[in-house]
Amino acid sequence: MKTIFVTGAAGFIGSALVRELLRHDDIRVLAVDKLTYAGNLHSIRELLDSERFAFVQKDINDRSAMAELFATSLPGGIIHLAAESHVDRSIDGPGEFIMTNIVGTYSLLETSRDYWQGLDDSAKRAFRFHHVSTDEVYGDLADSAALFSEETPYNPNSPYSASKASSDHLVRAWGHTYGLPFVITNCSNNYGPRQFPEKLVPHIILNAISGKPLPVYGDGGQIRDWLYVDDHAKALVTVFRRGKTGSSYTIGGLNERRNIDVVRTLCEILEELAPDRKPQGLSRYEDLITFVKDRPGHDRRYAIDASMIERELGWTPSETFESGMIRTVRWYLDNEDWWRSILSGEYRLARLGQLEERAT
Ligand code: NAD
Repeated sequence: MKTIFVTGAAGFIGSALVRELLRHDDIRVLAVDKLTYAGNLHSIRELLDSERFAFVQKDINDRSAMAELFATSLPGGIIHLAAESHVDRSIDGPGEFIMTNIVGTYSLLETSRDYWQGLDDSAKRAFRFHHVSTDEVYGDLADSAALFSEETPYNPNSPYSASKASSDHLVRAWGHTYGLPFVITNCSNNYGPRQFPEKLVPHIILNAISGKPLPVYGDGGQIRDWLYVDDHAKALVTVFRRGKTGSSYTIGGLNERRNIDVVRTLCEILEELAPDRKPQGLSRYEDLITFVKDRPGHDRRYAIDASMIERELGWTPSETFESGMIRTVRWYLDNEDWWRSILSGEYRLARLGQLEERAT
């Protein structure tokens, strides 16, 4: 039985990842999360009963708490997702992005290095620091350019992507300088259940069924490569277990779509699945689409060449864009309690003791 230390486990991708990890009977998970506004204990609620799962509310910058957790849980590796993740917030206030994404990663690298150096030779060889990053570190992709791959030079444009790029460089440097075994994954845009409503896909679904405008930045022509979150979680487990130490892997959904087309697809799915949720007087959900002033410095296109992870590790996404989007819309329609508690702010009370916090 191996314990995996997962940071950011109460977030969108982290909660999908810990579910996926627990499908493997030989894995225990120690889930660590500060529970910022983006962390939600309701997203991992049912896991709290599992013997193979423990949750601790801590900041990754709390070095002594992290060292104690390492010493008591003796993890075989770490998958690091904790981050500030919303580009708009990074433009309004970059400070937290520097503190968590850069300084937090540095803190965790130092804690991991101290722990790793104390392991015996075989545990040392087996240990790995898996850093979860984004395709946004590569910057804007010209229409004619080759897709982002492991060879693409970094060229981040927003405070968010610059902070993630910095953390990637730190991880690589700790590997090369101190020998800490690492892997890095750079993934495209995720969508799926339990994504915080400020992000495009849930924002559009929830606004549509509330009869509110569906805001689209600029002309809606920005292109992203969309990946269903459970496919990302499976890719992360695959790379963590079998990826080549010291490598990075780009992960994508093979689904390039313009933002406006994502919004239109969501409207079409809602016409099918929830025709009766349309506010009175509205003939089509699409009529709610409203173009708004573009985000400053908005990258036009990201798209991933995921052939290395397919060739080396046999991973490909299971969901198509259409099947994943249908699953996602259905999940939000069926799980009103989850998102209503966020809209009302109630979800933040869950951290104050309504759900049990359990240490190892
Ligand atoms: P999220 O914002 O939903 O979750 C982040 C989690 O980290 C939250 O639960 C939050 O409470 C926690 N956290 C923040 N600061 C912390 C701190 N100092 N200490 C401990 N926990 C802290 O983000 P997400 O969308 O799940 O993204 C997870 C990771 O994946 C991030 O590193 C992000 O850069 C990366 N990523 C995201 C996407 C995407 O499309 N969402 C794509 C590629 C990569």
